[in-house]
Amino acid sequence: MKTHHHEAPSHRVAPGAPLRERAPTARKAAPAATVTLPPLPYGEDALAPVISARTVGFHYGKHHKTYVDTLNKLVEGTELAGQPLEAIVKATAGKGDKTAIFNNAAQAWNHAFYWHCMTPAGGGEPAGALGEQLASAFGGFDKFRKEFSETAVAQFGSGWAWLVAERGRLKVVKTADAETPFVTGQTPLLTIDVWEHAYYLDYQNRRVDYVNALIDKLLDWEFAAENFART
Ligand code: FE
Repeated sequence: MKTHHHEAPSHRVAPGAPLRERAPTARKAAPAATVTLPPLPYGEDALAPVISARTVGFHYGKHHKTYVDTLNKLVEGTELAGQPLEAIVKATAGKGDKTAIFNNAAQAWNHAFYWHCMTPAGGGEPAGALGEQLASAFGGFDKFRKEFSETAVAQFGSGWAWLVAERGRLKVVKTADAETPFVTGQTPLLTIDVWEHAYYLDYQNRRVDYVNALIDKLLDWEFAAENFART
């Protein structure tokens, strides 16, 4: 049987053999695609002066990139290699033995989402269905703005503040460290990164000034409306 001469004898599998004995053959497939660092939706200096090019450069080029690179190293050779990022986050959430993979995967997801939550000429108030829902859920845009800001400032230590939709209802929530709301059935519409690396170079300890400037000048309500329309 010359047709199979390229296979090592130990890889021959008799018909009906248990599936796991076929594994060595299956692993000959092309290398699984890795999670990639998505491009920034704007230049590194586009958010200045609210967020400086220096902050975006470190935050995207070092922090975000490191989460992606570390994730790819951690999943290499495991059943998670080649899976979409969201699937890796969902598969490892709450699993005590997968904490490192979850942390890096969720941070990769959260950061990719965060960059799209901002736009150079952002801020203002949303119109349309999202604007109506904000008014009814929070009692007006100003009350939403206050709750979003206070929630972001109140997150103790590293984490994220989010505007989410849950079963058609808008809510403001916060998560610690890498935690992300989409694993619990909430649909993220907007987020603010409140890890110190997001603002320390520009604002030092004044998180409140970073949060308020981001809300007032950078939030991309069109992105939020697109996310809301898919709920
Ligand atoms: Fe960050």
